[in-house]
Parts: sequence; structure tokens; C-alpha cells
Amino acid sequence: MTTATAWVEDHFIAGDAALDFANTVYRRTPELGAELFTNAEALVTWLDRAHLLPATEPPERAFADTAAALQEARALRALFWTVFDAQKDGHNIPADAFARLLGTARRGSDTINLASDGSMTPLAAEGVFTILALRAITLVLAPPPQGVRACDSCGWFFIDSSRSRRRRWCSMKTCGNQAKAARYRSTHP
Ligand SMILES: [Zn+2]
Repeated sequence: MTTATAWVEDHFIAGDAALDFANTVYRRTPELGAELFTNAEALVTWLDRAHLLPATEPPERAFADTAAALQEARALRALFWTVFDAQKDGHNIPADAFARLLGTARRGSDTINLASDGSMTPLAAEGVFTILALRAITLVLAPPPQGVRACDSCGWFFIDSSRSRRRRWCSMKTCGNQAKAARYRSTHP
């Protein structure tokens, strides 16, 4: 039995739920690290913590088919990687991945409530994938002025809202400190 990931604040550092969702692997670079959506429970607790699940459901009963939900989450996340990698590298967004994002957004459009201020709430758990896809599409079509960036070390995505616009790490506590320690070792033999 796989243990569900215990989510902490450091898993939610990106500044946008779609990017946090893309960051649910231990690392993306230089090679893909461990899966953090270890099982359906990990997915549901992530969605709950990201305040994306419908308020009426007890989280553990949110999805009728948890295996299918987990598969859909991982597939959607892979699309996010393709799209956001292109965006951060200054490449055109691959048409195929973008079309699949639009498909996910369209498919569940009757499972969300869209308010006049643009906020979205799911009417059923499946609506979370539509909401995440729409948030990703929004980041692509109306990118934040500082752009979507990725951690120099682990490849997690984030929006740099620091005043200096020089954020290089997902988190100073993790990758930032490791890089500082490595630099210290290389200059202090
Ligand atoms: Zn990092």
C-alpha cells in the first residue's frame, strides 16, 4: 500500500494553483523525481488543500472512480509541463498540448460554476480538472508580467512576485539553501 504524500506549505509555493499542480513531483530536472501523487488519496488531499474540491463532499468520497481521477490528474499535469516549459523557454506553445488542454476545459464545463468575477467553483469533483485546465490556459493567454519561471535546481514552476524579480529557486529553504551550500563548498575547499 502506497502512503499518501503529506502536503506542507512548501508544496504550494508557485503563486498559482495550476503551477502548484504541475509541481507535484519531487523534482522535474535534471531528471524526473519521485511522484508525489502517490495514490488517489494524495490527489484528493492535494485538491482539498488547494481549496479546489466542492465544499459539500467529504474529500475522500469526492471521486466516484478514484483510479480514473488519478490517471486524469497525471495526464493533465504532463500537458502542463509541455505548455509551461515552452512558455518559460520562449517557444511557441505546442498546438497539440494546447488542444488537449482546451479539450479538458471544454469537457467538464458543465461541472463548474463560473462567477462574474471570473472565480470558478466545482459543482462535482470532476470539475477540478476543468478549473485547473482553465487556469493553465489563462496563464498561457494572459501570462503574468514577470512570466512563468522554473527553479534552477529542481525545475518546479513559479511566478516570481519578489520585488527584485530575481527569484531563482522554488524555495530558499530547499533548493536555495542547497545551491548556497554547494557554492560554499566549491569556493572553500
Ligand atoms: Zn527547486
